[in-house]
Amino acid sequence: MTHYRITLLPGDGIGPEIMEVTVAVMKRVGEHLDLQFSFKEALMGGAAIDATGNPLPDETLEICKDSDAVLLAAIGGYKWDSLPNNLRPERGLLDLRAGLGLFANLRPAKILPQLIDASTLKREVVEGVDIMVVRELTGGIYFGQPKGIFTTETGEKRGVNTMVYSESEIDRIGKVAFEAARKRGSRLCSVDKANVLEVSQLWRDRITQLSADYPDVELSHLYVDNAAMQLVRSPKQFDTIVTGNLFGDILSDAAAMLTGSIGMLPSASLGASGPGVFEPVHGSAPDIAGQDKANPLAQVLSAAMMMRYGLNEPEAGDRLEQAVMTVLDANYRTGDIMSPGMKLVGCKEMGAALMQALG
Ligand code: NAD
Repeated sequence: MTHYRITLLPGDGIGPEIMEVTVAVMKRVGEHLDLQFSFKEALMGGAAIDATGNPLPDETLEICKDSDAVLLAAIGGYKWDSLPNNLRPERGLLDLRAGLGLFANLRPAKILPQLIDASTLKREVVEGVDIMVVRELTGGIYFGQPKGIFTTETGEKRGVNTMVYSESEIDRIGKVAFEAARKRGSRLCSVDKANVLEVSQLWRDRITQLSADYPDVELSHLYVDNAAMQLVRSPKQFDTIVTGNLFGDILSDAAAMLTGSIGMLPSASLGASGPGVFEPVHGSAPDIAGQDKANPLAQVLSAAMMMRYGLNEPEAGDRLEQAVMTVLDANYRTGDIMSPGMKLVGCKEMGAALMQALG
C-alpha cells in the first residue's frame, strides 16, 4: 500500500466546509485504490492570524515542507480586511509560494457539458473546450529589478518595473509545461511578445530548444495579443498554454471565464521538487460561510489535480473527476451553479452525492 502525507490548510470562510467534503472523498478513493493518506491540518490565513498573529506561522510552513502535497481551501474575510498588507491573510499565500519555491501555476479551464450554459460565450464556441494554462509564478515583471517609483533630476516621478527572465527560469517552467502537455493532448502553445520584447525573444528561443527533448509534443508560438483574441474567438484550438507571469495572470483568468463558473475551477502550484499546493481558484466566500451553501466541487477537482500532478496517481484523479461528472449528470447543483429544473443541494448533500457516486 502506498502511503502519502497530505497537509490540509482549510483556512477561512467556506474553507473548512469544502475541505471536510474533500477529505471524505479522498479517503474513499484511497480505500478503493489501496492508497493510504495521512492528513495533518495546519493553520493559515485569518484563522492563523487570530491564533498566532501571523498568516503563515513557521510551524505551518514546516508541516507543509514535510509532506507529499498541500491541499489548501481558501483564506481571507471581512474581519481581516482592515489589517496592514503584511499582516493580511493573502500575505500567507505569497509566503507559502515563496517558502515552497512554487514557480509554476497550472490553471485548467474545462467546459463541463452539464454547465455549458453558465458560459457567456456561445455554446458552439465553448463546447469541448479543455485548456491548461501553465503560468510562470515567481519571475518576470512582478519581481524583476529595478522596480519602484523614483524621482528624476527634474523632479518628475517615474514608475519602473522590469521584465526579466533568465535561461534557467524559462527552462524550468518550460519543462513543467511540456510534461503537463504530455499528460493531456500533447500540444503546447507558448505565448510571448517576441516581436517587441527581447526578454520574450529569449523565452521563445529557449522553449524552441527545449522542444527537442519532447518530440511527442507539438509546439506552437503566439504573440500575447493574438492569444487573447484566439482565446475568445476559437478557444478549442488550445490544449496546453505556457507563458510568463504577467501574460499568464491575464490569460488564465480569461481562459477560466470561458467556463463561467468560479465554484468549479481548481489550480495547482508546483516547484522543482518538494510538495505542490493545490487549491480552488475561488476565495473564501465569506457571504455564504457557515450556511452549508458552498460548492465543494472546485476543491474536489483540486484534490484530483493533487493526485495527478502532485502524487502521480492519475487513476485516483480520474475517479474524483468522474465522481464530479456523475453528480452533475444526476442534476445536483449548489446555488452558484443552479439552473431551472436542477436539484438544489447544500455542501453536505453534494458531499453525500459524491460519496454515493464513488461507491
Ligand atoms: P470569492 O471567490 O470568495 O467570492 C466571490 C463570489 O463567488 C461570492 O458571491 C461567493 O459567495 C461566490 N463563491 C465563491 N466560491 C464559491 C463556492 N465554492 N461555492 C459557492 N459560491 C462561491 O471572492 P471575493 O468575495 O472577492 O473574496 C472573498 C475573500 O476571499 C477575500 O478576503 C479575498 O481576499 C479572499 N480570496 C482568497 C483567495 C484564495 O484563498 N486563494 C482567492 C480570492 C479571494
